[in-house]
Amino acid sequence: MSRVLIIGAGGVGAVVAHKCAQAPDVFSEILLASRTLSRCEKIRDDVRELQGRTIGVAQVDADNVDETVALIQSFKPDLLLNVALPYQDLPLMDACLAAGVDYLDTANYEPIDEAKFEYKWQWAYRERYEKAGIMALMGSGFDPGVTNVFCAYAQKRLFDEIHTVDIIDCNAGSHGKAFATNFNPEINIREITQNGRYWENGEWVETKPMQYSQTFDFPEVGERKAYLLYHEELESLVLHLKGLKRIRFWMTFGEEYLTHLRVLQNVGMTRIDPVEFQGQPIVPIQFLKALLPDPASLAEGYTGKTSIGCLIEGVKEGQPRKVLIYNVCDHAECHREVRAQAVSYTTGVPAMVGAKMMLTGQWKRAGVWHMEQFDPEPFLEELGQRGLPWHVKELEPSR
Ligand code: NDP
Repeated sequence: MSRVLIIGAGGVGAVVAHKCAQAPDVFSEILLASRTLSRCEKIRDDVRELQGRTIGVAQVDADNVDETVALIQSFKPDLLLNVALPYQDLPLMDACLAAGVDYLDTANYEPIDEAKFEYKWQWAYRERYEKAGIMALMGSGFDPGVTNVFCAYAQKRLFDEIHTVDIIDCNAGSHGKAFATNFNPEINIREITQNGRYWENGEWVETKPMQYSQTFDFPEVGERKAYLLYHEELESLVLHLKGLKRIRFWMTFGEEYLTHLRVLQNVGMTRIDPVEFQGQPIVPIQFLKALLPDPASLAEGYTGKTSIGCLIEGVKEGQPRKVLIYNVCDHAECHREVRAQAVSYTTGVPAMVGAKMMLTGQWKRAGVWHMEQFDPEPFLEELGQRGLPWHVKELEPSR
């Protein structure tokens, strides 16, 4: 029995609220707080209707540490689950430190004025979290999150040595809009338009945005072209996978999406620096976010599936081995269950499962930790039961 404080009432926050509500034995009290109270209230009403439970709601500016500390002191949660934006990671980690509460997020910190995501800012909290006897779990979404756990499982059960990992992420869904992003537009576009990067033989190799593409055969979807991007789980996985020689991240994009993005970039709409407009400074990408569909609003009528996994090669008992560990998730089924689309769902479910691991003491250690540093098996068992079944497919090893 424990109390959880969820911060952020977007597409992912809604899924987390529903999934926590489905597990009253673990999450006996739930408070959802965000910048806009009306969004929390809408989720509260949906949770009451679909799950038959009442959750609390509150307004909070998560950039303001004192405000969050006051909220924590009044609600007294056992865990703060951050599904606001990456900009809020550090103020929320500060608030947890001040109030002595465990912390979990799904995306690493990014400074608002620089499209650069790195763990160094959050790793800097390690000693203070250890001293305070509290825990922070980094990146408990799908990627990062489940992908890290798939790698940990491969290392524990499937391989003696892992040589290469390709994380492959495909959303083969259709939302019927000319251009929309499946999670926060600002964060999504910043991620895609920056340089790519992968790790090989101990070194990071930088690429131009979308410089490399490759076709992969995605389970239940088929062959799709995916582009090499930098993704944050690479940074911790290179530290924790033994014998690793190369790790890369690939994501699929439709032609329509790429064309829109190219035009928006060419006209300056994806800029993150302020420009003067009628005597006011505005940040073009923030203005663009205001025009684009809210990711949560895409859920109704969304068809198709996401297919995300880790393609891993290495050696087991002296023999070469290649496997794909993956999950396939159907947009329409997610909508039926919690009124969400699959990208929010595949992020929100692992956030809830990570929270359960912490609250039940199955994953519990003071300090700042990554998903692959814990036993993958209890997490994966729970993940399958909570709506994201996963599979291991044996493949012919490369020569
Ligand atoms: P949304 O934009 O839909 O939701 C973000 C929510 O955070 C909004 O409700 C917003 O409030 C709230 N928020 C923003 N700033 C503040 C603040 N200062 N104080 C309080 N609340 C605030 O994003 P998503 O739900 O799509 O994504 C949520 C997080 O999940 C992001 O960090 C994203 O990067 C991460 N993510 C991780 C994935 C993974 O696999 N690991 C995949 C997809 C997303 P308001 O309603 O007022 O705007």
